[in-house]
Amino acid sequence: MAESEVNLTKTYDAIVIGSGAAGGMAAHVLTSQGLQVLMLEAGKKLPIEKELRSMEWPYDNPYRGQLPPDSHSLSFNEYTIRNPPYGPGFEKAKHLKSYIGSTDYLKNIVVDERENPFTGTNYAWVRARCLGGKTNIWGRLALRLSDYDFKAKDRDGYGENWPISYSDIAPYYDKVDLYLGITGVKENLPYLPDSIFQRPTKLNCAEVTLKESLAKMGRVLTQYRAGVTSDGLKHNKYRSRCYGRGACERKGGCDIHAAFDSPTGLIYPAMDTGNLTLRTNSVAREITVDPKTGKASGVHFIDSQTMKDYTVHAKVVVVAASTLESARLLLLSKSHLHPNGLANSSGHVGHNFCEHIMGPGVAGHAKNLVGKPPTLDDGRPGGFYLTRFRNLAEKHPKFIRGYGFEGGSGSTMFPRGTDAHGFGAAFKEEVRKNQGAFVGMGAFGEVLARYENYVDLDPVVKDKWGIPALRFHYKFGDNEHRMAEDMKETAQEMFEAAGFEIIKVTSRVLTEGWSIHELGTARMGSDPKTSVLNQFQQSHDVKNLFVVDGSAFVNASCQNPTWTIMSLCWRSCDYLAEELKKGNL
Ligand SMILES: Cc1cc2nc3c(=O)[nH]c(=O)nc-3n(C[C@H](O)[C@H](O)[C@H](O)COP(=O)(O)OP(=O)(O)OC[C@H]3O[C@@H](n4cnc5c(N)ncnc54)[C@H](O)[C@@H]3O)c2cc1C
Ligand code: SF4
Repeated sequence: MAESEVNLTKTYDAIVIGSGAAGGMAAHVLTSQGLQVLMLEAGKKLPIEKELRSMEWPYDNPYRGQLPPDSHSLSFNEYTIRNPPYGPGFEKAKHLKSYIGSTDYLKNIVVDERENPFTGTNYAWVRARCLGGKTNIWGRLALRLSDYDFKAKDRDGYGENWPISYSDIAPYYDKVDLYLGITGVKENLPYLPDSIFQRPTKLNCAEVTLKESLAKMGRVLTQYRAGVTSDGLKHNKYRSRCYGRGACERKGGCDIHAAFDSPTGLIYPAMDTGNLTLRTNSVAREITVDPKTGKASGVHFIDSQTMKDYTVHAKVVVVAASTLESARLLLLSKSHLHPNGLANSSGHVGHNFCEHIMGPGVAGHAKNLVGKPPTLDDGRPGGFYLTRFRNLAEKHPKFIRGYGFEGGSGSTMFPRGTDAHGFGAAFKEEVRKNQGAFVGMGAFGEVLARYENYVDLDPVVKDKWGIPALRFHYKFGDNEHRMAEDMKETAQEMFEAAGFEIIKVTSRVLTEGWSIHELGTARMGSDPKTSVLNQFQQSHDVKNLFVVDGSAFVNASCQNPTWTIMSLCWRSCDYLAEELKKGNL
């Protein structure tokens, strides 16, 4: 796909900042409504199939899939003993990556921490600065939220309700399912609504054992609901159906684009309308404002390669740079009309920052599978999802809200949980015998949205482009730690009930940020004093400004956010297009 030239003299209908799940969806919806859209993306357009190399065998890679010697990715221990921006102590590493950038396949997708520093409390901040953002490598678990989330305050009194209900967003979840494809099985659960599923993956033997055992406890295990097209999408020529090649395991993306990614799922089809101009290597550093009206007038950006400055104009600005980068951009966009940053008369931009807590989990062996012939268990886009079971009908005495588990079992390209020792043939035999019997799962729990968990701008540290870095003031609280205790206990209890031999129970809580599900820094609400956006992700203060990514979330739920980000964005962009046509923006 060739990029067309940006016309600096033109006033576009809309500028979309960012090209991930949110930016891609905004481009799709707005261009299909006939709007002339300019998309600015800070990162490069990578030759993504060459980066991901899904079918490369480890022995064909010079580093066996690991990072080249001049690069280093931060380990869990390093996150706990070093503070950002990770300067001294890593001198030997020319390129420093977050924990997720630990393979040769992701080295150009995730950012260099040195070029993109941040400060403050520890946070495992994973950023993918390239066309498509994090959707190039996301884990694809595509879940809906429900009124247990949107109206959570009504249930336990904590925080705020969302200004929408499930019935407002349900038609848009349907549209996203049909346009992008999702696999799964209907379960009819009020707290985890079903999607319009394509052909599901199959659970394997140990997973079925666990499912049946859990059913006796009133808990539900279902096939991984993957944002993957298993039947194919006739309307999209850029994506293939899933061929289950056993490569999802590599923590990278899918080079045949069966798994959703924003470029092939949304951006290329939007370019085909003739209404989208894409400019990569374009780092937005400020949203400009008309001094007479206070409305957004365009975007000031820097070419990441030439360092040249540009300003472009539009009737509407749509911010979709991802939760934390969007907050940073609003805070950077100060003017005498908006002295605390754009859209920030409430003082809530950067606050109410929330996400998921991870770490506790369990690994075990289904002993009846030891020594059985291997099966192709990583030839599918995911294993299972064990749905939330806390604080639904009953109240847990120690914490509010809930958590779910992601897990899987069986043989994979890189054997798991064998704990085998030794050398040579005996070692290989031991690994082969045990690996197919492995079963493991890890929890994802809701981190409460708190005003005191926030980000602001560092007064000193700047990134490679001279833009002030983000500073974190963020910690898990007591509710999360009590929930993590329960995660560990229930994980063990459920594996024991299923008759699995326990290999390891993990209680360690991973560093803040590990879930890569950051949310809430410009929350929606009905009251402009306590929220940044209205129910259509439109700024209360600046009516031609929309923030359409996870910033708008009022709470984190325990379900993964991306399908909700895209459904909300579709709804908001439908509204935006209508309002623009009516002359209301
Ligand atoms: C390894 C991994 C696994 C994940 N697994 C799951 C999962 O299973 N389920 C799930 O729901 N979610 C998952 N996620 C999270 C998911 O990827 C994100 O929720 C989603 O990508 C968010 O979309 P976004 O558009 O807000 O941000 P992004 O996808 O990060 O896109 C933002 C884009 O904006 C660009 N940008 C940033 N700043 C600027 C600027 N100043 N100017 C111009 N452009 C800018 C960035 O370069 C980027 O391309 C996972 C993420 C990772 C990395
Ligand atoms: S299992 Fe399917 S979605 Fe996953 S990498 Fe393979 S083809 Fe892509």
